[in-house]
Amino acid sequence: MKAISRRKFVQTSVKIGAAALLPSVLRAETPAAAGEKLVGLQIGAISFVDEGINQVLDNIQERGQVNTLFLATFTYDTGIGGRQLPGYPFPDHGKQEYLDFRGGNFATPHAQFYKNTILKNTKAPDHGDWDMLAAVLPEAKKRGLKTYVFNQDSFTWHKDTPHIAELQETGIYGQHIESCCDLNPDYINFVSGMTKDICSSYDIDGLMWSSERQGPFNNAIQPFKGERPTNRITCFCKHHRKAAKERGIDVERALEGYRKLVDFSRASTQGERPVDGYFSSFWRILTDYPEILAYEKLWTEGNHATYANVYHSAKEAKPSIQAGFHIWHSNSLSPFTKAEMPYERLAYADFIKPVVYNIVGGSRYAGYINAAASTVFRDVPAEEYLRLNNHLMNYGDMSLKDLGKDGMPEEYVTLETKRALDSVKGKTKIYTGLDIDIPAKPENKQTSPEDVYRSTMNALKAGAEGVIFSRKYSEMKLPNIAGGGKAIKDFYAGK
Ligand SMILES: [Zn+2]
Repeated sequence: MKAISRRKFVQTSVKIGAAALLPSVLRAETPAAAGEKLVGLQIGAISFVDEGINQVLDNIQERGQVNTLFLATFTYDTGIGGRQLPGYPFPDHGKQEYLDFRGGNFATPHAQFYKNTILKNTKAPDHGDWDMLAAVLPEAKKRGLKTYVFNQDSFTWHKDTPHIAELQETGIYGQHIESCCDLNPDYINFVSGMTKDICSSYDIDGLMWSSERQGPFNNAIQPFKGERPTNRITCFCKHHRKAAKERGIDVERALEGYRKLVDFSRASTQGERPVDGYFSSFWRILTDYPEILAYEKLWTEGNHATYANVYHSAKEAKPSIQAGFHIWHSNSLSPFTKAEMPYERLAYADFIKPVVYNIVGGSRYAGYINAAASTVFRDVPAEEYLRLNNHLMNYGDMSLKDLGKDGMPEEYVTLETKRALDSVKGKTKIYTGLDIDIPAKPENKQTSPEDVYRSTMNALKAGAEGVIFSRKYSEMKLPNIAGGGKAIKDFYAGK
């Protein structure tokens, strides 16, 4: 493929207009043989319970050309495991009733895998003893569908899960925070045990791990009002303190620095402009307290160690398993997140799913811009900050007021798929994560079949080894799934 500067490509595309076809230079040179690309779709247990296994599989195979299931097996997240978010309309299938989602493990935990952790039983109570993997796997196999498990690290664990509090994090005021600590031995052994349990107890083809979390630095610069930030600025538990000391980090200085950063963010959110301006005051805190970034790195490496733990535990249980990672949306919205989550450092995995949700992406990106322009970059008008951030992210021009209703420009899928591919240099496969019907406010962009067609086609033509339709079947309209399916067929037909 002939090289083309991405910035030049963006500029060209923007001039041509959002609906323009991609330049032929970005198309795959030869269409892959039929069936080569992974076409995944994420599904929660509730859909099989509501509609029956065969009905669900018929719908996604016929309409979406799906060849790989991503079953939300361990999750506490309504957005992944629940039916529909309260207040949003239901799609054209499934039960039309809001659900009190509980979550946990939708397979069956086997006791021998949890000997080294106090967290013994996380069986989801939602459907009694029903085991999604035991029920779905035989039907999937009959149809030639591959089955990957989708497990989520979560910050919404149920309070009534026995011993869960002992695994969780400590904030900068010594307060309890409801997200698990990556350095806590009971958490480490739980993650390893659960991964081995699922990979050896069921004949699955793959496993995808998701951890939509970030370190204390990125949480501390978020806007907030009131006394204390609601974001998780963690972790100062005994395990993290010990690890910090081993690195020569002065924990008390780190704490002091983080509290100053939080005070800065609160005052900035309220428009109390420091005499030297927002950015210099922010930067001064960082230079006064280098422990802030040292502690951020400590947290991030602990979090990445959990990714590695999942990968190695899966491989130990079953070497042929395809183990990979879902990488959250922030990675293509925030230059700070992008810096700390480089794809090449995760390229030991068998695949990476970069979240490139362009339809809901517009309102999410606007949210990020408005947040950054409320604290560190408050001296920059938000529209201008968007332009600056677009340069940092290598995107073309956009309008802040239109982002929500327009979504991200369609070349975003191409650019971010290409960036992921260029980062990993063939060491791992890239399965672009695409959104279908993630609930959006009425004034914001809603999904259409044409949207899904274009995002799917753009990801494949950019060279992705596959696509994963997200977030879950129970929120997707069937014609929109079919839009993705049509793109798959047209791609193989060379269109
Ligand atoms: Zn900790």
